[in-house]
Amino acid sequence: MKHKIEKAFTVIELLTVIGIIALLMGIVLPSLSAAREQTRSVLCRANLKQLGLALRMYGDDCNGNMPSAEPYPGSYGKSAQHWFNNAALLNPLGLEVRIDENGEPVGPGKQRSVLTCPTHKKPDWSRDSLPEDPARERAFALSYMANGTLGVSGKCNQPTEYRQEREFKNPARAMMFCEGNGTESVPGTVLFDGCPKPNLLFRHRGRAHALFLDQHVELRTEEEVPFCSRFDEKRFGEFWYAKKP
Ligand SMILES: [Zn+2]
Repeated sequence: MKHKIEKAFTVIELLTVIGIIALLMGIVLPSLSAAREQTRSVLCRANLKQLGLALRMYGDDCNGNMPSAEPYPGSYGKSAQHWFNNAALLNPLGLEVRIDENGEPVGPGKQRSVLTCPTHKKPDWSRDSLPEDPARERAFALSYMANGTLGVSGKCNQPTEYRQEREFKNPARAMMFCEGNGTESVPGTVLFDGCPKPNLLFRHRGRAHALFLDQHVELRTEEEVPFCSRFDEKRFGEFWYAKKP
């Protein structure tokens, strides 16, 4: 006796189910992606909070002096004072500053750390292209850039021009670090070489985190960051230059 074998699904039923699954995936995936980005954004914020605490400790240990935002040795202080070469700033964050064969500091290395944003896919930098730096291991991973007005020397316990913490009259409006893209010649700093605004990176759905001197962190859109021009204090605006009330 023959048994009639019935198909479990017709092709049309199968296609309908596949279509419904695709539709549901289309609805669910963007919200999953948004949730993942929200997590990355929270972690990024926590990174900057830690950097803010390290900055606070550095100021306490150095009579209110700030670490340098200027990496060049010579007239603007030694490269060891530059913030990402500065062991006094980075060691409390669990980061070591590497030293090259000439005894020069070469940053905290290529590993992801509290200095890299989870949304930043390739936070890799290299200073090999600089004329004074021969091709050697000088790569490092970095997502956050110091404000150029943070200081130009930052030598601990040696006060010089506008790097004392107390000189920033509006700590809640004085940006210290932000998510950015260092200039080619000055990685690690959004320096006032022209307007530094284009050196910010708005990684978090069109927004960038910024750490202020009073330790709070903000998410700002590009429109919320003021434009400024080089060496013009009035046009720098509070975000860039909160020295004066
Ligand atoms: Zn980030």
